[in-house]
Amino acid sequence: MSARKDQLAANLAAVEERIAAACAAAGRAREEVTLIVVTKTYPASDVRHLAELGVTDVAENRDQEAAPKAAECADLGLNWHFVGQLQTNKVRSVVRYASRVHSVDRPRLVDALSAAAAKEGREIGCLLQVALEGGPEDSPLPSGRGGVAPGAVEELAAAVDAAPFLRLDGVMAVAPLTGPWAGRPRPAFDRLARIASDLRASRPAAAMVSAGMSSDLEEAVAAGATHVRIGTAVLGVRPGLG
Ligand SMILES: *Cc1c(COP(=O)(O)O)cnc(C)c1O
Repeated sequence: MSARKDQLAANLAAVEERIAAACAAAGRAREEVTLIVVTKTYPASDVRHLAELGVTDVAENRDQEAAPKAAECADLGLNWHFVGQLQTNKVRSVVRYASRVHSVDRPRLVDALSAAAAKEGREIGCLLQVALEGGPEDSPLPSGRGGVAPGAVEELAAAVDAAPFLRLDGVMAVAPLTGPWAGRPRPAFDRLARIASDLRASRPAAAMVSAGMSSDLEEAVAAGATHVRIGTAVLGVRPGLG
């Protein structure tokens, strides 16, 4: 194995241990939580190593970077997730490689995804990204990180329900950096879990709860996350922003 692959294997093992411990602490089965490795800013060669090490799900947050990487890795049979803020003019490209979009946060994006998915003849799984910056209140201040206010989730879900080539898979959130829950991921993730449970009451198939990153995967698993999105802890600290 190359030195890089050795390093990725060691990092993956450490993350696997954290997820297993978090599941055990929460009284959950390890199989209830899927690891998605966020490969943004890292090259296709790393994605290839990860696939060889057993990773099945990867995520990207910028189409300009993701499209060529996914094309280079098309032979690996990976599930590609899109987790970044998505402009409607990128949607045609994203639906060609991503099977799921975690960052669905407005009706206009639902319309664009629906049209692009129909053109591509491909069903796309949608997760509604919920903004939790408002804390226990329903109307968060605009955060710039995307996300629908908790009070508008049901309306957005109905828009996805009505779109023929879109499938509502669940919800996603990033722990808020501002507002009453800044630095306190657990109550934020608990709120997300309640929103997910309300959605599931009328849509049992929308069972995904995408929450938890390198610094807060334990809190997310404790709150019921089904998918954790891990970048830094597997691939290393990203140079610059990303
Ligand atoms: C980058 C990113 C992650 C991974 O974050 P790490 O802290 O590197 O684990 C997860 N989710 C989203 C939406 C991201 O943009």
